[in-house]
Amino acid sequence: MLNTIKNAPLTGKKVIMRVDFNVPLKEGVITDDTRIRSALPSIKYILEQSPKGLILMSHLGDPKKDTKKAKEKALQSGLPFDEAAYINGKHRMAPVAAHLQDLLGKKVLLAPDSVGDEVVRLVNELTDGAILMLENTRFNSGETSKEASEREALAKFWASLADVYVNDAFGTAHRAHASTEGIAHFLPAYAGFLMEKEICYLEPMVKNPPKPMVAIIGGAKVSSKIAVLESLLENASALIIGGGMSYTFLKAQGHSIGTSLFEEDFIDTAKKLLAAAKEKNVDIILPVDHQVAATFSADAVAEYISGNDIPDGKMGMDVGPKTIELYKKVILSAKSVVWNGPVGVFEFDNFAKGTESVARIVAECTAKGGMTVVGGGDSVAAVNKFGLKDQMSHVSTGGGASLELLEGKLLPGVVALQSK
Ligand code: ADP
Ligand code: MG
Repeated sequence: MLNTIKNAPLTGKKVIMRVDFNVPLKEGVITDDTRIRSALPSIKYILEQSPKGLILMSHLGDPKKDTKKAKEKALQSGLPFDEAAYINGKHRMAPVAAHLQDLLGKKVLLAPDSVGDEVVRLVNELTDGAILMLENTRFNSGETSKEASEREALAKFWASLADVYVNDAFGTAHRAHASTEGIAHFLPAYAGFLMEKEICYLEPMVKNPPKPMVAIIGGAKVSSKIAVLESLLENASALIIGGGMSYTFLKAQGHSIGTSLFEEDFIDTAKKLLAAAKEKNVDIILPVDHQVAATFSADAVAEYISGNDIPDGKMGMDVGPKTIELYKKVILSAKSVVWNGPVGVFEFDNFAKGTESVARIVAECTAKGGMTVVGGGDSVAAVNKFGLKDQMSHVSTGGGASLELLEGKLLPGVVALQSK
């Protein structure tokens, strides 16, 4: 059982909450604030309980990794690289704190660091439900350290600042970091509403979904989706396999796939999955027609191929109308649907039809009373692009975390919130 903030003693307490404010930034400006908005219900609820103070902490990008990459790129192109300016524009919490302040209409104080005497001083001064945001947790190497003792030392420091720990950062729940998992060992720990909602919609898909359940798995590669395919096979009545990865399956069935995306090393894996599905009586729905192109580019012209034999020199970029009809029949017969991975190169308008249709059909399933859940960075981007976010039962805020949960893995950040 997940301990949630509804059962947490918050009044008069100092509360430290891990949020996932890892928002995309362009030159210091937030380009998508979904993650900040998603934490508002928990933040508002906590403030209504009159805590002594609310301390918020999050990572923002990966300062070390991002800087190394950007530096190498600059070096390669012979451009100067100003490390401090780069970090200031990409990893500092100031724009996030300012944006949260606007959304709440309430002062959000910002600490200059996430550790140290100044943080302790600012926390000691918190009264009457004031909000203090710590600086990027990943500026401190203990946050992600492989050494358990380093993570523990940092977790203990953060725990020393408060009476209660709340975790609403579903997007980082698959990481056993100091702020997402370590700290829960030193304070009473509770899940926020976002965390609770994510688990409440995603977990049933691998445990006890309303049946029949249909899983739609697309995206680029078999290698990144095989674990989720195997996991969903347990409860699905039909498994729709679309997108780039479907071509490895079609090749495994003996079809010609032209220059479509293909993973030679996964032919055997594909064959095994097809056999396992047969044994379990799960329908595998592969495409039956395609939109193909001569090159992988935004201005490539779509050519229609009926059937599954793609000529030499052509690559499958999207599913065709007969496949969409088939999807419609299968998806609308479901009581629950889980969707991870676009069924075509939806970023290119000429090849977006399949993915847009899937989004519309899943929305129709929601309207008919089905439980519909979308996870995965690009699938969520697709649902947003077609303006259908509000027509799904749940759209996950966590890419990697939702995938791992659907793979049937235990997420360290979630385990840490369960009643001991
Ligand atoms: P998600 O982020 O939702 O888990 P993935 O990252 O697995 O999804 O895959 C998304 C990518 O798969 C998209 O960028 C999309 O363009 C690509 N893709 C979908 N269909 C094809 C295809 N037929 N050929 C090449 N790439 C494809
Ligand atoms: Mg992706």
